Amino acid sequence: MQALTVSQITGDSNPNYLIQQMTGLDAVTPIDGPTKPTILGADFYSAAGTGSKPTTGQSFYAHNTLFHEFLHAYLAITDTEMIQYFGPNGLTPYATYSNSVAISAWLSTDCNSTLPYFTWINSINQTP
Ligand SMILES: [Zn+2]
Repeated sequence: MQALTVSQITGDSNPNYLIQQMTGLDAVTPIDGPTKPTILGADFYSAAGTGSKPTTGQSFYAHNTLFHEFLHAYLAITDTEMIQYFGPNGLTPYATYSNSVAISAWLSTDCNSTLPYFTWINSINQTP
């Protein structure tokens, strides 16, 4: 099977292989092209949880990851732009974790506030 490039999926000019864009990510939504597909990582719904880092095998985290990616697709904005636009609505970046993580945490509160990181991790681990 031949590896696909990002441009083959989105119609943009990104010549990188999609697998390169996915490395280390649960999901990705390229926003530069005329189509903005959300592409899920391998084993998206079955990845085992570790307790200290959320995984998409945990349904609560998977759902918020999908909401996060759909915001990228619908609004065609980056994580940094989401932080700017939704900051007045309680989305605040974490000092030591990525903006991506903060956005998923904020979505998990119905967009009311960004839970402290370990409070958010505990809520994921306690939600079936
Ligand atoms: Zn994102």
